[in-house]
Amino acid sequence: MKCLVTGGAGYIGSIAVKELITKKHEVIVVDNLSKGIKKLVNKKAKFYKLDLTNYKSLSKVFQKHKPEIVMHFAGYKAVEESMQNPEKYSDNVIGTANLLKCMNENKTKKIIYSSTAAVYKPHNKTVTETDELEPNNYYGETKRICEQMILWFSKIYGIKYTIFRYFNVIGDGGLNYIDPEATNVLPIIMEVVMNKRPELQIFGTNYPTRDGTCIRDYIDVIDLVDAHIKSLNKANNEIINLATNSGTSVKELVSEVEKALNITVPKKNKGRRAGDPPTLVASNKKAQKLLKWTPKISLKKSILATYKAYN
Ligand code: UDP
Repeated sequence: MKCLVTGGAGYIGSIAVKELITKKHEVIVVDNLSKGIKKLVNKKAKFYKLDLTNYKSLSKVFQKHKPEIVMHFAGYKAVEESMQNPEKYSDNVIGTANLLKCMNENKTKKIIYSSTAAVYKPHNKTVTETDELEPNNYYGETKRICEQMILWFSKIYGIKYTIFRYFNVIGDGGLNYIDPEATNVLPIIMEVVMNKRPELQIFGTNYPTRDGTCIRDYIDVIDLVDAHIKSLNKANNEIINLATNSGTSVKELVSEVEKALNITVPKKNKGRRAGDPPTLVASNKKAQKLLKWTPKISLKKSILATYKAYN
């Protein structure tokens, strides 16, 4: 299949590109390299450095390659930054609008879209796909708007979609991606382990959870990419959570790292970070059923893979 991958030089996209090439698909990558790393893009993929907000350039790529399917990973994803610089995050919407226009103009059949747990109205029960949406930050809102645009383009033009709502993605797919501006907890812990930061700040220890710290559903990036590959010809017009159905608190994550690496991680209890829901854990029943997919990689394995990437 001829597949255009946006954000194909990034953390998740670069692994998806590698897997697509392994499975003999023809791959075209577009990435603005704001956080992507060019050398991670598989040499067999055609690469274009461009920003999705540039409709003219994007349109040329579509006209030249006529992709049959799009995997859309590109987007800004830091929650806190989205509340300080919303203009930047509006590009998530503009880029997706341009992409859908190009898809329609060039008869691209399907989009596989990276959405997020941040579209849901926070609650403490296991999240299912039919739960109420109410993002509490602008990042989540841009993703919800993009989801809605995709649904409308599907309704009006018949473009097929699989929308994946990611929970907390961790691990490494063998390409050793290092986040140049780490904001997520495991990369930050690794920076502490590598002496690039003095300590891990634990954001909030008085949440209504088993040990007072936030609980998240950590899913390995290899399992996540596997679901994307499986959705190339399955799960059309579906919205699907990608998660493990099990939660780990920040304190539990730190102690898993300490056990796995046989070290002590310097840490300090801090106040809550604005906008953090206490618990985010999702059911993955729908993914299991529709994709014949199940996450296979343990938390320990994800930690060891991330550690290897940092070494
Ligand atoms: N967290 C933390 N210290 C950090 C970064 C994150 O305690 O330096 C916590 C954060 O408050 C949340 C969890 O780790 O409860 C996961 O945060 P992350 O930013 O990785 O992902 P999010 O759940 O916000 O998407």
